[in-house]
Amino acid sequence: MRYQSFNLRLERVRSLALKGAWTEHVVGTSFEGRPIIAFQQGVGSKRIMAWSLMHGNEPTGFEALLQLMAVADLESSYLLIPILNPDGAEAFTRLNAQGIDVNRDARNQVSAEAKALVAAYEAFQPELVLNLHDQRPRFFPKGGKQPASFSLLAPKGHPLTPNLAQNNAQQRAKRVLAKWAKTLKVKWAGGVARFDDQFYPNAFGEFFQEQGVASITFETGIGLHDWSRSSVAAQLGELLEELDKLPGWENLDLDTSAYENLSMNESPANEWLIHHAEGCIHLRLHESVQQGVYYAHWLVDSIEHTMPSWKESHCKQSLTHLELGTVLTLDQIHSFGISEDFGLNN
Ligand SMILES: [Zn+2]
Repeated sequence: MRYQSFNLRLERVRSLALKGAWTEHVVGTSFEGRPIIAFQQGVGSKRIMAWSLMHGNEPTGFEALLQLMAVADLESSYLLIPILNPDGAEAFTRLNAQGIDVNRDARNQVSAEAKALVAAYEAFQPELVLNLHDQRPRFFPKGGKQPASFSLLAPKGHPLTPNLAQNNAQQRAKRVLAKWAKTLKVKWAGGVARFDDQFYPNAFGEFFQEQGVASITFETGIGLHDWSRSSVAAQLGELLEELDKLPGWENLDLDTSAYENLSMNESPANEWLIHHAEGCIHLRLHESVQQGVYYAHWLVDSIEHTMPSWKESHCKQSLTHLELGTVLTLDQIHSFGISEDFGLNN
């Protein structure tokens, strides 16, 4: 389920919050008047803050946070903001209703979402923050043959103000990611990548790292046979549970090579190649929501000849009439005699 309305998502979070004795705090109000709500629980010694749907069309982290909220015996203390960008979540857009990318608003804090995030952070005083995002299907580990289902990043602190606190924060983030990288290798070998920690001054990962609080940016992608990302969400939920059970930060391995040695995140792969009677076309997934209805459309794009492809189909007709930029529905594609269904519209 890639899209749900804000109200339906909030209903799902609240239902879990009631069962698990989570307390609810309104930490802000979006441009269109929707509440930005944090859910808090626990007296555990590790203090973890996480948010999802900062970009409204990236719901995998949301599903993982709900999985965590459903765990009965959590051992850490949490502040979760599962729908940080309520207007973007409702419209299924990356940006908020003012057209602001909240993850580029960490310094200026013009948006209500950035203000709410910083206020919640200051009130809760976390020791680790998790910034959960989705990335497009086009990403893969460099040299690899399958999509990057998980791309990990321990961002840098501010290079102009180097200090021990921000270095220690980045180091703790790397140690968590090294632990996760080892876990992911078991079931997702070939589907895990690392981001270049190039400094983005306006992003929240860098901003919190600079404050001396360990900060992780986590990007989930498609699975090779799971374009809806449900198995990826379940795996992320398991990683969060694994971290919860860690007795203390000192129990993390000092060796971060499992993270450092991951292949770098690379793009652009071909998403869906269709070999037809007179050649080949490349289709890229294009998701949108119109009047509350989710559509997975496919955009005819140029072929990346040296890059891997996630899906290949064959068609007896000629498709040479389909120009670059043409948008196709799955029904139109089925009319070419191709029966593929990616499970996205369920
Ligand atoms: Zn994002």
